[in-house]
Amino acid sequence: MSGYPATGGAARPSPGVHPGAERVNDPLRTAFAAVHGGRPEGIWAAPGRVNLIGEHTDYNDGFALPVALAQTTRLAARRRTDGRLRLHSAQAGGPVVDLAVADLAPGAVTTWAAYPAGVVWALGEAGHREVDDGADLHFDSTVPAGAGLSSSAALECAVARAYDDLYGLGLGPPALARIAQRAENAFAGVPCGVMDQMASSCCVAGAALHLDVRAGSHEHVPFGPGAAGLRLLIIDTRVTHDLGDGAYAALRTGCERACALLGLAALRDLSPDHLPRAERMLPARLRPLVRHVVTENARVAEAVAHLKAGRVAELGPILNSAHASLRDDYRISCAETDLAVDSAVAAGALGARITGGGFGGSVIALVAADRVEPMGAAVTAAFRGAGYREPHLIPVTAAPGARRIE
Ligand code: ADP
Ligand code: MG
Repeated sequence: MSGYPATGGAARPSPGVHPGAERVNDPLRTAFAAVHGGRPEGIWAAPGRVNLIGEHTDYNDGFALPVALAQTTRLAARRRTDGRLRLHSAQAGGPVVDLAVADLAPGAVTTWAAYPAGVVWALGEAGHREVDDGADLHFDSTVPAGAGLSSSAALECAVARAYDDLYGLGLGPPALARIAQRAENAFAGVPCGVMDQMASSCCVAGAALHLDVRAGSHEHVPFGPGAAGLRLLIIDTRVTHDLGDGAYAALRTGCERACALLGLAALRDLSPDHLPRAERMLPARLRPLVRHVVTENARVAEAVAHLKAGRVAELGPILNSAHASLRDDYRISCAETDLAVDSAVAAGALGARITGGGFGGSVIALVAADRVEPMGAAVTAAFRGAGYREPHLIPVTAAPGARRIE
C-alpha cells in the first residue's frame, strides 16, 4: 500500500542505532511498508510483565515486585506533519485506524487503538504539543493479550518510549509510565494502578522492580532463579471471566470504603500489628479485603529481603500464602487458576500463585529446573482431566523495560 504522505521522517538521523541491527526486524519493516508505505524512523520494544508478589496493592499506595518479560510489543514508528495518527497492529489486523490527533478525547476511541492513541492524547495533555503533528505506527507483539501479562501496558509503553525518543522529550522511564497509566485510566477507561506501566517502562535485565507506589520510587532487586537451580514459569490458563472489569472496580471501591471508615489515606498506612484492631472496626465484608492488602504488602518486603540475600527459594512459601490470600480473602481466583496452582505444587513447585488482576489469566510457579517438565505435564494433565483448554507454559527471564532497538 502506498499513497500516504511520506513525512520526510526517513531522512532524519537515528542516533545510537547500530547499522547492522536492521536485519533483525526486517519483517516488521516490511509490514510497516505494506501498511503505511516507506520506512519507519525506528523500532521500539516494550515488554509484558509478570508480578512476583504485591497483587492489588498498587491502587492502595503500596508495594509490588514485577519482572519484565522477554515477550515484547514492537513498534515501528514514523512522524507525520498533517495531524493524522495512523495505527495498525498485526494482532488486531483490519484496516489502518486513521484518527485526527486534534479529535482525541476520552471515550472517542473504543477499540484496541484506545491504548496507543491514549498515550498520544496524554502526552499532548501534559503539554507536549509536538504530538499534534501525528504519526504512522505499526505494532507486532509476542505478549499474549488478556492473559494478565500486561499486553496493554506493553502497547502503551512502546508508544511513550518512541515519542520520547523521536521528539527528544527527555521524560525518562518513570514519567513515561505515568503518561501510559493516564492513557489507560482516562482515555481507555480502565482503572488500573501504575504497576504494569512502571514494570514495562522501568525494568532492567536480571532484576525485579521493587515499587513503592506512594513514594513514586523504585529500586532494582536482583532476580536470577537460574543461579539457584530454579525456574519461574508462567502458566497461562487462557481463560478470562467476564466479571473481571466490574469486580476489579468493586474491589477498589471496597478498599476506599475501608480507608474512609478507618480514617486512613490508604491501606498502605495500616501495619500488620494494627490489623486485628482495624478489622474490629469494619463491616464483615470489608475485613478480608483489608487483610489481603496489609499481609500482601508485608509479603513484598519479605520477598525483597530474601532476594537481596540471594535466597530465591524462600519465595516459594511466600507465593503459596499470597495465593491463599488472593483466593480466600480477596477472592479473585477461579477454578482454573486454583487448579493450576494446586497441580503445580502437587508436582513439586516450591510455590505458586495467581498473578495479575485475577478472574482467570495466569499463574506463576517457582520450580527446580529438573522439575519443570514433570510439573508442566502434571498441570496439563490436570487441565485435560477437568475439561479445560490446554494451558500455555511460558518461562520467565527478567528482561529490560521499554527501549529503542533500531
Ligand atoms: P492484558 O494487559 O493483561 O493483556 P488487557 O485487557 O488489559 O489485558 O489488555 C488487552 C487488550 O489490549 C486487548 O484486548 C487489545 O485491545 C489490546 N492489545 C494488547 N496487545 C495488542 C496488540 N499487539 N495489538 C492490538 N491490540 C492489543
Ligand atoms: Mg492490561
